[in-house]
Amino acid sequence: MPGRQAAFRADYRERIAPAYAGWAHVALIAVLGAAAIWVCARQITAPAWYEWLVIPFAFCASNVFEWWIHKTVMHRPVKGLMGIYRRHTLAHHEFFTDVEPTLDNSRDFRIVFFPPYALVAFMTMSLVPAFVLGQAGLANAGWLLLITNTGLYLNYELFHFCCHVKNDSVVRRIPLVNSIRRHHIAHHNPAIMMERNFNLTYPVADWFFGTSDLKCGLVKHIFNGYDTAAVRRDLKRAGTP
Ligand SMILES: [Zn+2]
Ligand SMILES: [Zn+2]
Repeated sequence: MPGRQAAFRADYRERIAPAYAGWAHVALIAVLGAAAIWVCARQITAPAWYEWLVIPFAFCASNVFEWWIHKTVMHRPVKGLMGIYRRHTLAHHEFFTDVEPTLDNSRDFRIVFFPPYALVAFMTMSLVPAFVLGQAGLANAGWLLLITNTGLYLNYELFHFCCHVKNDSVVRRIPLVNSIRRHHIAHHNPAIMMERNFNLTYPVADWFFGTSDLKCGLVKHIFNGYDTAAVRRDLKRAGTP
């Protein structure tokens, strides 16, 4: 591990509160998310066929949002949102590099999972379009939108964890998860982190906007796994398999 990364890790770990419990952090996110999905699901009554169309729409919108917020707010200092930039670019990317992208124990969850209030913030943002749908007489679509967005948030946290977990003997065999693990670990190369691989669930927006380190089609992007054959030649790190 590079000396700078090792020094950052030692300093960061020293500053994690002694009372911090990684699994409690994860449980809180999971319980909050599952409760929100359960509450929303109970409100749905006989949706019309066209109300289900909100799910693919929300999937695409969330995928672009995830790409956009990572590319802009998380990697560029934006006035009023500096905390997010500091936490991501100046902490998460110092703690994990493409040379050593894995966590050592559950206390390191502190630097992988977002604080639980981030989930509440994203759910609150989703309330706006859901309310508009409700006002337009599409209340079921509004609830389905909230469920989809909350589900994708949990999906994001789970996949990001799978990117940084130490033992990859399981995740390297799971389709989609292995693709995002390679995709995200490449993003942790400081030389390309500002320009490439911003998706954390499915690399759809990276493919669409041309910010992926791969030069191939959408299906190959999603099911690429650990394959580095399609990595753009100028982005291949010397020595990477
Ligand atoms: Zn990461
Ligand atoms: Zn990043």
